[in-house]
Amino acid sequence: MFEKILIANRGEIALRVIRACREMGIQSVAVHSTADSDAMHVRMADEAVCIGPPPASQSYLSFPAIISACEITGAQAIHPGYGFLSENANFVQIVEDHDLTFIGPSAEHIRIMGDKITAKDTVKRLGIPCVPGSAGGVATLEEARKTADDIGYPLIIKATAGGGGRGMKLAKNDKELDNAFRTARSEAKAAFGNDEVYIEKYLQKPRHIEVQVFGDGKGNAVYLAERDCSLQRRHQKVLEEAPGPVITQEQRERIGRICADAVGSIEYIGAGTIEFLFEDGEFYFIEMNTRLQVEHPVTEAIFGIDLVREQIRVAEGLPMSFGQDDLVINGHAIEVRINAEKLPSFSPSPGRISQYHAPGGLGVRVDSALYDGYSIPPYYDSLIGKLIVHGRDRPEAIARLKRALGELIVDGIDTTIPLFHQLLEEPDIQSGNYNIHWLEKWLERNLTA
Ligand code: ADP
Repeated sequence: MFEKILIANRGEIALRVIRACREMGIQSVAVHSTADSDAMHVRMADEAVCIGPPPASQSYLSFPAIISACEITGAQAIHPGYGFLSENANFVQIVEDHDLTFIGPSAEHIRIMGDKITAKDTVKRLGIPCVPGSAGGVATLEEARKTADDIGYPLIIKATAGGGGRGMKLAKNDKELDNAFRTARSEAKAAFGNDEVYIEKYLQKPRHIEVQVFGDGKGNAVYLAERDCSLQRRHQKVLEEAPGPVITQEQRERIGRICADAVGSIEYIGAGTIEFLFEDGEFYFIEMNTRLQVEHPVTEAIFGIDLVREQIRVAEGLPMSFGQDDLVINGHAIEVRINAEKLPSFSPSPGRISQYHAPGGLGVRVDSALYDGYSIPPYYDSLIGKLIVHGRDRPEAIARLKRALGELIVDGIDTTIPLFHQLLEEPDIQSGNYNIHWLEKWLERNLTA
């Protein structure tokens, strides 16, 4: 059993992991930059170590600083949260070289899935359906044209090293292809240091459906239904729900089994998410995330399972505490991401919180590192909290979400809370009738400056 776990992250996800550790009787170690000395995760952990100056490259992303913090405190394992080092195969290798345990998948699995072309090749062989597209990387305009001839327009050019919704370019016809191909490559080079791109058919009205999987590293794996994350701005998720409002039980079981069998066959360990676009009843793989997702609480809510606890268990070599037959969906859950951003531009809005009040009551969960008087530093992600509600069905969850949002007070900075007040009044949101393009169009109509 681990006695002490170091959390290589900050904000709400660091708190999330500290909470699981405490319930399991495991000591927690927070790490922080000098900008985060007053952060909640530092206050809540059993121990805290300052690992460097504000820029993440010199603190939260610094291998030597984090490994030294483990050595100083005697932590035996590292939980990476999401973002930062969570999908960095080189980091996992270094952790293992120091006889520490990385709470997450193997370096090899992270490497395979981190390169989107290799990921697609791999999952195709494991029987997972993919978006039609180029067979691997596309290096020249001639090859791009040939792919376009094969799959037709519109198409999307994507960076093989891409992530965070960046590095994607749409081409609607031959004329646009030239420019889109060139800019996709140069943007990929600038953002990810790798200009390799691939091409996919651009789906016109899909939903983003992702399957939560979990493996014990010994060949056993389960699926925990799906989340619908179709409400997106600039390819980034804004609201997530589980189960997917338009997915039938038959579709759920079909895609869920395929995913669980695939990750079981590669002896995947821990939590993973297989992301799909879903259109006209068909699933098309886009990528796999080899970590805990921001939106994992909606899955926890409908199954009553603590996914972080399970991650820690399997990292210790223990079996999962549930099997596929134990996983029966109970009700409906919705999460909204509260960002420190100013509308309508969504520009970052760091600063001091003059008043904070979190909602409560039946079926309400707030994962946030905010407190009265806290100053949000300008250096990191703008996510400051997640409000998650659970109801017996979708209408009850929506009513609860409206009620809880009404109780939530975050004063002193601008946040995305008003956006959700407005969105929840929309008939399409209430009925679940939206796809990945819905929000962008709605924002153009409703939130222009
Ligand atoms: P990232 O790793 O940057 O998040 P993804 O491949 O997961 O990139 O895609 C993110 C989002 O971009 C998807 O949820 C979807 O909204 C959009 N997208 C990606 N591929 C396609 C496609 N082939 N057709 C239409 N939209 C797409």
